[in-house]
Amino acid sequence: MDVQPFLIDNTWVTGGGEPFVSSNPADGSELAMVGSADAADVDAAVGAAKRALENPAWRDLKPHERARLLHRIGELLDADSENLARLQMRDNGKTLRECRVLVAEAAASFRYFAAVCETFEGELPPPRGDNWPVTVYEPVGVVGAITPWNSPVTLEAQKLAPVLAAGNSIILKPSEVTPLIALEHARIALEAGLPPGVVNVVSGGGDVGRALVGHPGVDMISFTGGTKTGSAIAEEAGRLLKPVMLELGGKSPNIVFADADMAKAVKGAGNGIFSGGGQSCIAGSRIFVDETIMDEFVEGLRAFAQNYRIGPPEDEGTDTGPLASFAHRDRVEEFVEIGRGEGAKVLTGGARPADGVLAKGAYYPATILTGLDNSARICQEEIFGPVAVILPFKGEDDLIEQANDTVYGLAAGVWTSDYRRAWRVARAIRAGTIWINTYKQSAITSPFGGFKQSGLGREKGLQGMRAYMEPKAIYWSMD
Ligand code: NAD
Repeated sequence: MDVQPFLIDNTWVTGGGEPFVSSNPADGSELAMVGSADAADVDAAVGAAKRALENPAWRDLKPHERARLLHRIGELLDADSENLARLQMRDNGKTLRECRVLVAEAAASFRYFAAVCETFEGELPPPRGDNWPVTVYEPVGVVGAITPWNSPVTLEAQKLAPVLAAGNSIILKPSEVTPLIALEHARIALEAGLPPGVVNVVSGGGDVGRALVGHPGVDMISFTGGTKTGSAIAEEAGRLLKPVMLELGGKSPNIVFADADMAKAVKGAGNGIFSGGGQSCIAGSRIFVDETIMDEFVEGLRAFAQNYRIGPPEDEGTDTGPLASFAHRDRVEEFVEIGRGEGAKVLTGGARPADGVLAKGAYYPATILTGLDNSARICQEEIFGPVAVILPFKGEDDLIEQANDTVYGLAAGVWTSDYRRAWRVARAIRAGTIWINTYKQSAITSPFGGFKQSGLGREKGLQGMRAYMEPKAIYWSMD
């Protein structure tokens, strides 16, 4: 198998690190051998990214010219969408249907940030006598972007697009579990005509990420991944006084009140945890249910989970494919065993499929656990798999206390027909995104990020581009 190179300074290189295999979690087959960067490659990428900032072909582009490049990237993603969707499907196991949506979202991110780039404005605050202050926003510089494996095409686009729209250069380090889509982002950046060093991709594992965080030439780190890794990155970045944007884990409550539309709540809660195999930072993994409707809800969700079709990701009828890797499937399985050890009752799922095609892949079925309270380990730790815990509550105060009793604060869902209650609960839950009578909706226009240990800063929206800029105050004497 040829070693797949990565991109530094618009040149494909195989790197000084040990090449690694990327495999297909649907059957364990080897998809590609990927070159890995070493410290010298990271250094070369930083050098190229710094030079790009000084290159008039990038630095001096007017906003509409930068926007045109971003539009071009969006068009190239759209033009190749079927291949990209299939590549992501093979690399991380999500269904082809979901991957097609994710590629469309990636293209839309570039178009959105092209519009933000063109319409972005500085500020002219009121003058103080003869002194005119002007606020301008400048690129932060070289951005190191580090991403996880769950939705590479979208998560990487959500960093590339605003970073470039703001006029920075970027070094993207994708997850070693799903390294292939980032190489396509690099190819597309080249094809779109970005000058050398503006977009660099370095493949490899945590060491490459660490080298990027610790490099004095990297001005800012934008990280999406686990809370433990985010904390280690923040510690190092703190030592270097380097700004960080952190999008981390979650243990989101999805809350069903007694007056909710039961059919919609069951479907919303089911999709909220089981779609994408639960490998989503915003998965509604703790389902809180008013104790008076517990039996009816539990029966509804059990039926939903049992009908949730697990199968080959390319099959149109499949609701969920394999998990992204065998190691991750083992981890999910281990969590379910921990739950059993804590006294959980497994209502459905709870064992990997033993037969046929599914036995060869990293499959794990939709699983529901009951009988625990919110202090149990599996109610507090992120499982990142298709595992729902159903928890009872008695009244709004009890609910809010339990829902907020977590180190995380990424998202929450509220199912009720009482709009006053929806508003009260939405305001009382400490999380960055709240859905009312819906779940997992997302708009590129709205800020996304976490309270507490779910992160620092916000992606998306207008502030998503400003996050990669330094405000500068200029005082102009008219005396
Ligand atoms: P991870 O933290 O293990 O790895 C993420 C990335 O960090 C990978 O590219 C990895 O190589 C790199 N890395 C590992 N150690 C590093 C270090 N010390 N310094 C620098 N880089 C390092 O996460 P994962 O297992 O790939 O992804 C799953 C996690 O991502 C979950 O916790 C999930 O909640 C989180 N996530 C968050 C969001 C969000 O937007 N909040 C979105 C998706 C996933």
